[in-house]
Amino acid sequence: MSNVRVRFCPSPTGNPHVGMVRTALFNWAYARHTGGTFIFRIEDTDIARDSEQSYQDLLASLRWLGMDWDEGPEVGGPHSPYRQSQRMDIYADIAKKLLDSGKAYYCYCSPEELEDRREKARAESKTPGYDGMCRDLTPEQITKHKSEGRAPVIRMRMPDTDWTWDDLVRGEVTFAAEHVPDYVIVRATGEPLYTLVNPVDDVLMEVTHVLRGEDLLSSTPRQLALYDALKAIGVAKGERPLYGHLPYVMGEGNKKLSKRDPESSLLMYREEGYLPEGLLNYLSLLGWSFGDDREFFSKEEMAKVFDVARVNANPARFDLKKCTAINAEWIRTLDHADLVKRLIPFLISDGVFSQEPTEADLEVLLKAIPLIQERMETLRQGVNMVSFLFTGNPGSPEFEIDPDESAKVLTADAQPVLIEALSALNGVSTWSAEAIEEVLRVALIDGLGLKPKVAFGPVRVAVTGRRVSPPLFESLEILGKVRSLSRIQAAII
Ligand code: GLU
Ligand code: ZN
Repeated sequence: MSNVRVRFCPSPTGNPHVGMVRTALFNWAYARHTGGTFIFRIEDTDIARDSEQSYQDLLASLRWLGMDWDEGPEVGGPHSPYRQSQRMDIYADIAKKLLDSGKAYYCYCSPEELEDRREKARAESKTPGYDGMCRDLTPEQITKHKSEGRAPVIRMRMPDTDWTWDDLVRGEVTFAAEHVPDYVIVRATGEPLYTLVNPVDDVLMEVTHVLRGEDLLSSTPRQLALYDALKAIGVAKGERPLYGHLPYVMGEGNKKLSKRDPESSLLMYREEGYLPEGLLNYLSLLGWSFGDDREFFSKEEMAKVFDVARVNANPARFDLKKCTAINAEWIRTLDHADLVKRLIPFLISDGVFSQEPTEADLEVLLKAIPLIQERMETLRQGVNMVSFLFTGNPGSPEFEIDPDESAKVLTADAQPVLIEALSALNGVSTWSAEAIEEVLRVALIDGLGLKPKVAFGPVRVAVTGRRVSPPLFESLEILGKVRSLSRIQAAII
């Protein structure tokens, strides 16, 4: 095992989104590539925004994606607990040590006072950060503030230096001292903030590499400062972690993909029936590449070659079409039994099956797979393609024809076609796709002189309920003679 320790540390607010998953994946891949440790930590110190539901969703999402972690919720580890809400005494203790050593101090300024002074600084064209007012209060001033009933926040005392680090993705990054003013680490209520708990846990959990989104770039200088302070008071033992900031993901109109965009919701992919393999494969391409133009690979293959140094600093473009195409490619690689297994939950949730499928259902499903596997891009599309094989069964909904298709295709002109098809099919003794095709061609194309589309369209809609379905003759074969004929009969007025 190498000493590489990386972490994925989401806050359980709202629904998991793809940006989060990419961060998790890159950290996971780096840990697996180096033989290091992948830590999963929950940053749930914001009582107002965090929810238990969101925490459960996060766990379920990572499990669904097939990602495993070496330390964290459910698996434990040497730095337990891994939910920050259960580590509050640790943060209180560190905050006290920082205060005692003078690395941090109490600030009594009210929000209004801060805003007034910021406003003034702006008017004088100065950088409007905290001005250090409470850095060196006298005992008398402190007594006065207290007597006024002011509740103080705790601020870090930032050294007057510029902050530079060698970003694993972006190369050298520098923040000038004036852009990193003394910042709040504990609220007046005593609640510790992200600015404290995140770097403290990175230190205590001995994190070596911080790989996270570019939106957190400006947190890094503060975290370096906090690291140095913790080192000075003997809390941090090792080296500063190395930082790498993953590029932004851009959505439509070259705007940053937002949590509100539907394609950013992880749930959407689950519900539409994307495979975890397909989604992870696509997300891995957002800022990284395999190296030899390969775009189709598993997360294990990715892990074999993954190197942070090859993450691209330029914004990545999110392309749902490409994501879907990669998913379709994954679907094509599944063996039939596996694909059946993955379709079943969708067939149940869509109500096509009222319970676990019977042996007979499974047999039909297995026969249908070769007809749909090449055509479906998502599991949900597959379900739509096969549902006509089961509707009308006991426990399944009635067979229904899409009313739009019915209006368009099952017209008065279609009636003679259906009548002819019914009588031709009635005479088929060995019910096979070949025999079905043969008699329909003879009856409708040769006999009635129709073009294939006009000939087969009405039969397709009558039998499958839709205009787009798996290949017609094979569909009829699987559906069976009795049900095929009765559906055609039902479409004849
Ligand atoms: N809890 C933070 C977030 O979800 C983690 C940021 C980080 O990786 O440092 O944004
Ligand atoms: Zn102050």
